Amino acid sequence: LQEQLYQAQKMESVGRLAGGVAHDFNNLLSVVLGYGEMLLEDIGTDHPHYEALRAIEHAASRAKTLTRQLLAFSRKQVLDMKTVDLNGVLTGFQKLLRRIIGEDIALDMVLSDEPLQVRADTAQLEQVLLNLAVNARDAMPDGGTVTIETITVDLDREYAESKPGVRPGRYAMIAFSDTGPGMDRATLDRLFEPFFTTKPKDQGTGLGLATSYGIVKQHDGNIWVYSEPGHGTTFKIYLPLHAGRQAVARTPAEPRPAPGA
Ligand code: ADP
Repeated sequence: LQEQLYQAQKMESVGRLAGGVAHDFNNLLSVVLGYGEMLLEDIGTDHPHYEALRAIEHAASRAKTLTRQLLAFSRKQVLDMKTVDLNGVLTGFQKLLRRIIGEDIALDMVLSDEPLQVRADTAQLEQVLLNLAVNARDAMPDGGTVTIETITVDLDREYAESKPGVRPGRYAMIAFSDTGPGMDRATLDRLFEPFFTTKPKDQGTGLGLATSYGIVKQHDGNIWVYSEPGHGTTFKIYLPLHAGRQAVARTPAEPRPAPGA
């Protein structure tokens, strides 16, 4: 528990620091990029310094992408919470997921029959799914399968108490699996740390899972990972089921069946 708490505090302070730095850098980079683009247009492709200037502009543009991701990570997003059906969110996002993982990877969606009402910021949840999809794609360059399953789960008191920060109750669960190479212990230990990445320099920022973790936590949820070298990876996301869902489901437009019908 102590270790978990320490991790959480460390992440928060790293986030704050990163956010402050990113904000200042973002402004400075706007100046570099702005003048760089202006000069590029001015001098034209024949100029002896054209290529050098282009390299400067390219690096500044990449740096700006990085700072934007840093800002998104560090900013405690003000969530736009609505009662939504998780299965609906997934179905609506399916097309984009397909596009991200590409044609060599199969996508299997196995959604629970009942609607899964949760309080959520759909855009933020989609951000989490996007991060998981990008990681699954990168883990399976030669193709494979992504499976997304939803189900309701009861986390009983005993189980919840064995996990720090988990409240017992009814949850909607998304299991996001891939058939990639899986991860070893050393990677698993650092997975949700900001800036931890095993990807090549211009591919990974190490912020995808740290951001996803923050978003799920802000939803009072949990994200756990199950992985073993050679056996693929599964991320399980738990979101509290919305208690008032009966009241939501029964609207005046849906008359109750007449007695004896
Ligand atoms: P990034 O994608 O920029 O590296 P993430 O925080 O999203 O940052 O991921 C951190 C690291 O976790 C990745 O670099 C990779 O080593 C590992 N990882 C994440 N998802 C998977 C996965 N589905 N299969 C194998 N490794 C993964």
